[in-house]
Amino acid sequence: MKFSELIIPTLREAPADAEVASHILLVRGGFIRRLASGSYNWLPLGLRVLKNIERIVREELERAGAQEILMPVVQPAELWRESGRWDVMGPELLRLTDRHDREYCVSPTQEEVVTDLFRRVITSYRQLPCNLYHIQTKFRDEIRPRFGLMRAREFIMKDGYSFHLDEESFEATYSAMHACYSAILTRMGLDYRAVDADSGSIGDGESHEFHVLAESGEDKIAYSPMSDYAANVEKAQAVALPGDRSVEAIQKVHTPGAKTIEAVAEFLGVDARRCVKTLIVHADSDDPGLVALVLRGDHQLNEAKAGRIDGVRRPLEFAGQAEIEAALGVGIGSIGPVELALPMIADSSAASMSGFVCGANADDYHYVGANWQRDVASNVRVADIRNVVEGDPAPDGSGPLSFLRGIEVGHIFKLGTKYSETMGVTVQNASGRDIVPIMGCYGFGVSRMVAAVVEQCHDGDGIVWPDAVAPFDVHVVALNNTKSADVQAVAERLHRDLQAAGLAVLFDDRDERPGVKFADADLIGIPNRVTVGDRGLKQGIVEYRRRSESGVRRLSPDAVVDAVASTP
Ligand code: ATP
Ligand code: MG
Repeated sequence: MKFSELIIPTLREAPADAEVASHILLVRGGFIRRLASGSYNWLPLGLRVLKNIERIVREELERAGAQEILMPVVQPAELWRESGRWDVMGPELLRLTDRHDREYCVSPTQEEVVTDLFRRVITSYRQLPCNLYHIQTKFRDEIRPRFGLMRAREFIMKDGYSFHLDEESFEATYSAMHACYSAILTRMGLDYRAVDADSGSIGDGESHEFHVLAESGEDKIAYSPMSDYAANVEKAQAVALPGDRSVEAIQKVHTPGAKTIEAVAEFLGVDARRCVKTLIVHADSDDPGLVALVLRGDHQLNEAKAGRIDGVRRPLEFAGQAEIEAALGVGIGSIGPVELALPMIADSSAASMSGFVCGANADDYHYVGANWQRDVASNVRVADIRNVVEGDPAPDGSGPLSFLRGIEVGHIFKLGTKYSETMGVTVQNASGRDIVPIMGCYGFGVSRMVAAVVEQCHDGDGIVWPDAVAPFDVHVVALNNTKSADVQAVAERLHRDLQAAGLAVLFDDRDERPGVKFADADLIGIPNRVTVGDRGLKQGIVEYRRRSESGVRRLSPDAVVDAVASTP
């Protein structure tokens, strides 16, 4: 296709609102243009990449036995009321009303609709297992849309749902989907990790995320360089660290104005690791109403882990200053486990400490040398409620954990019977018994993937598309073609011959200076570039270069098709 006939509005300057490479380069390269906060128009180059990704996703899913359908974007509220999510979803769900005052939402995900479809069309156990997917627009009113396509409000997702009579059948499909996602990312030539993940609000069971590794990723992954262990930091199991064994006399000390761990540690001249911090959250009942969470001073609370503990309100809610003062008679900065009249959950690494510093439950006082067994009442449960940190032992015992940053492009879940049960779905098994099917759910961020590829595949000059998803295979750059009939003729012939060999060709036939054409070619990032210029043609050659390599091959124009077609 001719550059002069396509809409490729490249820019020299980065857009003012862009912070990450993919956002900057996709806008500068003329792939996308913003419509409104978190929503983008797809221009011809961008759409070609998106379609390539969709094609790979489709091919691998069909190979794994999934069937493509297409479900509506606007969904009736009744289905969401049936599943109980209409009231739970909050402001991320975009709600609307039609002319008859009936309520709807714009699809953020499709569990309700697919479960409803299933109960209408599946009548016999013989039709199971059943694995359905579609590629469709989603809308989530994200609180902070940012990073262009990465965290949009309107985006394109492949979402799939499977239905099973038993666990064994579910497990087989779940592993097939895990393998399928790995195959998709491998075909795209990306460096990625599959990690254990938290299910969030979608399900309660097992789940795995697929991350494209990139510094700009919003997620942190904990992994063991010595084994296969990898988990989202939100989910990674924290091992109990050995505590100090010292036994000292407990002492109450005046710590005026020291309200934070840093301030207390500095005032007393001790490490934050020798202190514990006590956080007060709401209980899931009014009696007692509050629960205390105790962590080592240098550790951070993991809200998802704490929210799953019996007796703690989920999602986790911190108690306010006034509430705490009313219940305990002490301000937030001076609470501690000694003589605390609340149920307590101690993180396992805090529970193994001895001789620690903690709030004395009196304003501006702390204890030094506190000891769990001797000084704390028995209303303490021990659990893993913290985030892992780099260097923590891996839970599989293989050595210390390291961290990587990743972009979540896929997430597969076990839904169990959460939706089939609440929406009253049953299928008769072979012996006539009604079975509530087990469900799996498989999401893949097709439009986010475009950004994720760019985050991993770019350099200082622009994008370096992997061959599998590139908008074109070859970029023919004709230098001064409007002045040289020879250049124009050879470039046109190469355009035709490369296309005839089955390659997608972008032919830069514009009346632009060579510098402009080269800068645009680097920015747009098509993997193979053939440059045709007068000087070369006088020696009978054109130049062939891979975008990912600096070396240039000088070839006779007749050798170009073979050279490009045989490049792996
Ligand atoms: P995140 O934690 O990034 O918000 P999520 O857990 O909400 O993602 P899922 O509900 O599992 O995401 O959706 C499946 C996939 O859809 C994600 O893995 C991601 O690739 C994509 N996705 C989710 N939210 C967005 C968004 N706001 N913009 C673009 N893609 C998204
Ligand atoms: Mg989300």
